[in-house]
Amino acid sequence: MKSVFAVAAIVAAILSAPMPAGAVDKTTWTRPVTPFRIVGNIYYVGTQGVAAYLITSGHRAVLLDATLEENAPLIERNIEALGFRLKDVKIILNSHAHSDHAGAIARLRHDSGAQFYASDGDRRALEHGRHDSDTDYPTGHFPPVHVDHVVRDGEVVALGDVRLTATLTPGHTKGCTTWSTRVKDGGRTLNVVFACSLSVAGNILVGNKAYPDIARDYVRSFDRLDAMPADVVLTNHPEFADVLGREVRAQAGDINAFVDPALLHRIVTDARNDFQAELAKAQSEAKTGK
Ligand code: ZN
Repeated sequence: MKSVFAVAAIVAAILSAPMPAGAVDKTTWTRPVTPFRIVGNIYYVGTQGVAAYLITSGHRAVLLDATLEENAPLIERNIEALGFRLKDVKIILNSHAHSDHAGAIARLRHDSGAQFYASDGDRRALEHGRHDSDTDYPTGHFPPVHVDHVVRDGEVVALGDVRLTATLTPGHTKGCTTWSTRVKDGGRTLNVVFACSLSVAGNILVGNKAYPDIARDYVRSFDRLDAMPADVVLTNHPEFADVLGREVRAQAGDINAFVDPALLHRIVTDARNDFQAELAKAQSEAKTGK
């Protein structure tokens, strides 16, 4: 048997190993965090590295994303820890059809009895449980999930007094969907935008056979998102909007911790710059036949 100390030393070595630039720390994707209220009727029920949001109307709720397949019990416990029953979740929405956001939806849909709504662009990927785009890394599978209702661009999904509007912002996936809503919070009304991921994240930008219009879609989506009013931005991976850091500030009494009307523009600008650099690299490689 390995000594506990040897194992602890290995763990410590892994945790202290420097992350290569641009690498994603996936150990945070399954790490639990205590669920909390963000603003108004919006709650965080995700993990440290992947977001899931609960938007409530009385005792009923909409769940946006469910994170990875193996996190399903954790997300369910988080919902229950907030005082809701799983069957109070009536609608499940998805930001985009990647395993880290949609992996646990099949289980959550089954356990709650909720209807699952998703865009037409991502429907195939969700119902087959795999990415629908050429990537520079081997994509895995996730549990396929039946789409009960296909959402159109501009569609408003309603539950009680909750209204969530779908804005299609494809590129990261074919059906990447940005959801937005207005909430009342401490006497003010806030525009909240759940921005769909904008990163290139290994997508092939030139010569993508499964998704030929990918580069054009990214450019349109940057413009669309940049034009959206957003007092509060909530991202699929919380670190892009510092959701957990803002919660620490909110706990310390900062009532404006989540309010940052310039944040969406900063996120879009950073993503656009990264995209343009990656596109230029891919175009020059295509030209030189690399
Ligand atoms: Zn993704």
